[in-house]
Amino acid sequence: MIDERFDAIVIGAGMAGNAAAYTMASRGLKVLQLERGEYPGSKNVQGAIMYASMLEKIIPDFREDAPLERHIIEQRFWMMDDRSHTGMQYRSDDFNEDKPNRYTIVRAQFDKWFSRKCREVGVTLLTETTVTDLLVDSTGKVLGVKTDRKGGAIQADVVVLAEGVNGLLGTRAGLREPPKPENVALAVKEMHFLPAETIESRFNIKGDEGVVVEAAGTITKGMTGLAFLYTNKESISLGIGCLISDFAETRESPYTLLETFKAHPSIAPLIAGSEVKEYAAHMIPEGGYKAIPQLHGDGWVVVGDAAQLNNAIHREGSNLAMTSGRLAGEAIHRLKAGRQPMTKENLKLYKELLDESFVMKDLKKYKDMPALLHTNSANFFQSYPQLISRAAQNFLRVDGTPKIDMEKKTTRSFIEKRSRIGLISDAVKLAFAWR
Ligand SMILES: Cc1cc2nc3c(=O)[nH]c(=O)nc-3n(C[C@H](O)[C@H](O)[C@H](O)COP(=O)(O)OP(=O)(O)OC[C@H]3O[C@@H](n4cnc5c(N)ncnc54)[C@H](O)[C@@H]3O)c2cc1C
Repeated sequence: MIDERFDAIVIGAGMAGNAAAYTMASRGLKVLQLERGEYPGSKNVQGAIMYASMLEKIIPDFREDAPLERHIIEQRFWMMDDRSHTGMQYRSDDFNEDKPNRYTIVRAQFDKWFSRKCREVGVTLLTETTVTDLLVDSTGKVLGVKTDRKGGAIQADVVVLAEGVNGLLGTRAGLREPPKPENVALAVKEMHFLPAETIESRFNIKGDEGVVVEAAGTITKGMTGLAFLYTNKESISLGIGCLISDFAETRESPYTLLETFKAHPSIAPLIAGSEVKEYAAHMIPEGGYKAIPQLHGDGWVVVGDAAQLNNAIHREGSNLAMTSGRLAGEAIHRLKAGRQPMTKENLKLYKELLDESFVMKDLKKYKDMPALLHTNSANFFQSYPQLISRAAQNFLRVDGTPKIDMEKKTTRSFIEKRSRIGLISDAVKLAFAWR
């Protein structure tokens, strides 16, 4: 047992852990942070879009030295079939503001920077240190952690579980159920390196401007999932992910999906001639509001992906992680300042702050969406993309067929595939889940 005692121990130095550690240490608490990776970020995978407002609430002047890649001025949403995409695109010079709203980042660099900021405000960080178990007393109160270091048990008033999507420690200690396969996606990602000028000419951007492409459709072979392509300064991050339960059922391989996505005629020219330097696979919690476990107990709180706080509909995770980490830190600081013990009852403050924030409000709004997409994945991710693509082609192809006949052909194709009742039912279910 290590004699030194801490106000708080934070497990993990990802987005949520760093946000919690920074918030507490900058308010004067004695914080120990434990990270199993060689350095913060070495094990972390993200697309990655980083949302500035949530970081600003923690480190207001982060733009001065944070490793940012490009600020995003254009977003493309593509619905793909095997040879085409039907797109919606938004580009605005408004995004070229003094303090841009969204940036692409490379997590290995960004997490290192965030962690340095944590140490600057007094966090003690131990890397290459895996927390193997929580120290729990006979009443179920968490007293600290056990690590893989010699004599590695350490005590603190409160433990912040920021261990990421697996949540193994929380599960092992009986604080939560393991995440269900239908609530977790497996994503694979590659980094394709290209000169900055090539990226800028291919995406019609200049300077630090960036573009994001998000795509759904037959590329996931009827499984619930999404692909993405993000521009960095001198690289393109590109990946695809689907629910683990769908992979188990279909026996499709994530790697084959990624290869197919890269070879798609809409994607291949964007990455032509690039050098692939990194390949990574990682899970994403996608069960939404209904999959959120117990968030606090005697001597512990859970934040970020470990708490399943991820908005799969808007593809947001890091901002929910940073916000939940910050709010947990603020709650703990307020309890400490009021000399209140870290009981389950008192730590409810964290849950209350989270409920008032966009995190819970957004997840609650889409609470029925994950189940709807999962149970209708063949329609939403296979049939509709094919039908919409054919409809677009019918609309655009000029071959002497009267427009009225083209329209009838399009309507017939939708009804033959889904029936009138099926179409109405899908629209109603979608509208209700989106409300
Ligand atoms: C392919 C992909 C693309 C994504 N794209 C985006 C995006 O564009 N925008 C966005 O906002 N979100 C995105 N996300 C989601 C985002 O990455 C996560 O929501 C975010 O990283 C969660 O942060 P976290 O701190 O909770 O977990 P993590 O970042 O996973 O950090 C957990 C940390 O805990 C450490 N750890 C785990 N167990 C232990 C242990 N026992 N002992 C010590 N340390 C431990 C890990 O090494 C890790 O450093 C993406 C995710 C993936 C997989």
